[in-house]
Amino acid sequence: MEKALQRIIRKTGRKPVSCKCEKCRNQCRTPCLGTPDDILRLIEAGYRNRLAPTLWGVGLVMGRLPYMVPMVQAIREDNGFCTFYHNGLCELHDLGLKPTEGRLSHHTITMENFKFGKSLSWNVAREWLDETNRPTIDRITFLMAK
Ligand code: SF4
Repeated sequence: MEKALQRIIRKTGRKPVSCKCEKCRNQCRTPCLGTPDDILRLIEAGYRNRLAPTLWGVGLVMGRLPYMVPMVQAIREDNGFCTFYHNGLCELHDLGLKPTEGRLSHHTITMENFKFGKSLSWNVAREWLDETNRPTIDRITFLMAK
């Protein structure tokens, strides 16, 4: 069966990329979105306390969804950056644990901002609505409540 990362690459046309320019680093002010698989991997790697339940509201704000999407994601620290961001680097990068949006995001790509259906954030967010991910989401809910 096609995995979430492959599905998102196919739907968005993105490819895994790594860039340390200032524009890309500034993207880390808002924690990048992970799929349920990404988040479960982070919990199992011991990062549960750096994650929190949240609601993704972009689709609602843009009038494309009638509700917000519940999910668990990395938290933002008081310094205004993602909890995994340190001195311009992502703590998760070398561990192979970077969430999908961060793996596929790049400062040169702007067209998707105008195509909601192809946008990276929506295609990651919709994984939290996909019933095939229900067992993973239930496991995340259980582990976060412990
Ligand atoms: S997880 Fe890494 S790439 Fe994603 S926002 Fe945080 S620091 Fe940036």
